[in-house]
Amino acid sequence: MKFLKGVGERRADAFARLGVVTTQDLLWHLPHRYLDASSVSPLAQARVGEEVACIGKVVDKGIVPTRRGLRIFRAVLRDASGVLECAWPGQAFLDRTIQVGQTLLVAGTVRFYHGRQLAPSEFLVLADEDETMAPESGRVLPVYPATEGMSHKLIRALVDRHLDQLLPLVRDVLPEPLRRELGLPPLAEALRQVHRPATIAEAEVGRRRLAFDELFDLQLMLVRARTLAKRQRSGIAFEVRRDLTTALKAALPYQLTGDQKQAIREITADMTAPERMHRLLMGDVGTGKTVVALFAMLLAVENDFQAALMAPTELLAEQHARTLGGLLAPLGIVPELLLGKMPAAAKKAAKARLGQGGARIAVGTHALMQESVAFRRLGLVVIDEQHRFGVEQRAALIGKGSAPDVLLLSATPIPRSLALTLYGDLDQSMLRERPPGRGTVRTEIRGEQHRERVLAFVEAECRAGRQAYVVLPIIEESEKADLRAATTMAEMLTARWPDLSVALVHGRLKAEERDRVMRRFRDGTVQVLVATTVIEVGIDVPNATVMVIEHPERFGLAQLHQLRGRIGRGAGDSHCILLPGGRTLDRLKAFAATNDGFAIAELDLRERGMGDLIGARQSGGIEVRHARLPEDTDLLLRARELAGQVLAADPMLQRTANQPIRARALARFPRATELFRVG
Ligand code: ADP
Ligand code: MG
Repeated sequence: MKFLKGVGERRADAFARLGVVTTQDLLWHLPHRYLDASSVSPLAQARVGEEVACIGKVVDKGIVPTRRGLRIFRAVLRDASGVLECAWPGQAFLDRTIQVGQTLLVAGTVRFYHGRQLAPSEFLVLADEDETMAPESGRVLPVYPATEGMSHKLIRALVDRHLDQLLPLVRDVLPEPLRRELGLPPLAEALRQVHRPATIAEAEVGRRRLAFDELFDLQLMLVRARTLAKRQRSGIAFEVRRDLTTALKAALPYQLTGDQKQAIREITADMTAPERMHRLLMGDVGTGKTVVALFAMLLAVENDFQAALMAPTELLAEQHARTLGGLLAPLGIVPELLLGKMPAAAKKAAKARLGQGGARIAVGTHALMQESVAFRRLGLVVIDEQHRFGVEQRAALIGKGSAPDVLLLSATPIPRSLALTLYGDLDQSMLRERPPGRGTVRTEIRGEQHRERVLAFVEAECRAGRQAYVVLPIIEESEKADLRAATTMAEMLTARWPDLSVALVHGRLKAEERDRVMRRFRDGTVQVLVATTVIEVGIDVPNATVMVIEHPERFGLAQLHQLRGRIGRGAGDSHCILLPGGRTLDRLKAFAATNDGFAIAELDLRERGMGDLIGARQSGGIEVRHARLPEDTDLLLRARELAGQVLAADPMLQRTANQPIRARALARFPRATELFRVG
């Protein structure tokens, strides 16, 4: 960087802190947002109440103390039309950044305070005191990630100065005909559009090209990982013998849903094939994943193999053991339960039965993957709530068999686009349909003035023998106060309903204590459970028919949906009542209008953006910088299809034409190095 005109030792250091070391890095240091200065208002025309963007020269500035001790930084801007005062409450430090004579771009809402005043939500120094305003007005300004000693203004100037020399050095690895077919610009052109767009729309065209490249590299990696996982030591080719699976079908107290049948067909096809199964079964709580998993387990068992189901908590493991026990009773099979808390003697006996093969189906927690646990012949591993286990934990259980098939379960539906990004190395089955015969969940939004009526409703339901959840949010920055709110709520309800049993669970409780309270709720000893968001995922209390959520506006939509999934599990109708703190928001209305987890996941993705969602999961080295979902779903699907074609013809990307593609994928995703290792 030092050799670049305009960059000396000190600036090179500052650039290094931004990860910009070579001139190529400068080209790839992309704007994180844009300011549209093409539609600025003259200062005199900025009206009270309007959102505006204005450009003007600073003619006066200073810090104004207020009576309440708040210091306001204030600056007066002038342009040909007149002047406008800008005020930044509590930001006195800006006095060091903003100087008289500078040209500023400011954006924000105009309010009335002794005259018109703009409280900028953002600003940009367009030109310093000694500079004349660059002929930039009337165009879109890129804003770059900046650091101390390297302002975004300086970065913009340097990029602008060197862009024309850097662009011709860009190597485009995407074959020309393909690029045309996709309707994407050449790479150099895309970079130009991103750094120096004429319009916001043009910057977006450029970004989509970069996004495609990124998604393509990612899919190359995922498709390759999928192929390897299947091939690595070939798996077991189970045979459909139909003794146990058919018996289960005959004994089931209900008809399988279409989605369940489809998932079972997909799983059966996987398991009977000689490659290992590596499949993710996704479906909202209550869509009936357990029975689908059971069919898979019985297919293993009727082939004289064992199957193991691992759940993240003892409560869930017990629940599974009970459900499976009920379904298996007519077949004369008893699932073997293995939990950490079991007495030593019972544990020893269970392990012996697993080791000798007397136990054919194991259900348990982390206890299953302990070293002391051995199976006679483990052919299938099912992992419930798979994202709650680390890669090593899953591997530890899988390692107890000789290349067993693997079925992962997830109760967190995600949009297909995101699933292909996060879990593109797995085959996927989805359960969207809910089994019939269960009550509906109605979601209603109520205002503060209805609180009494809501509480009366909760009381009436509980007196009629049902149970209720009251959920309060915990936000980290004020966790203590939030906890107090939950505690106060529990106390208030206890005082109000002395003859009902009210209990409280929250994240600060020890795991055993939390478990104890949840059990009492499950067993019906507790009628009203006041909770923060720690209510166990997947807990099945069919008798709980009411959930009141305080401050739902503070939750993500997917999280709200997860919470709501705790009710509506019995035959009766259930009610989810939202009590928002303020005005009812459109997002909450959209949430109340649907029960489809996949639809809500889509809304959530739009609302929060992908980075957040990926970050919240174990992303396995997947970092996506340019692509946006769901907006780029079309590109993603094309990238996936293309990656499949390219790898089918050249699995290791060794052909001369494919080598640049391979090199780029490896440079972008370090994890790909393993996958494309030759030999
Ligand atoms: P999930 O694990 O997907 O949350 P479960 O497997 O626990 O869901 O199933 C939820 C409930 O639905 C269970 O009580 C189960 O017996 C019942 N169930 C599953 N499939 C059907 C079906 N096809 N028809 C009716 N009830 C079903
Ligand atoms: Mg389940």
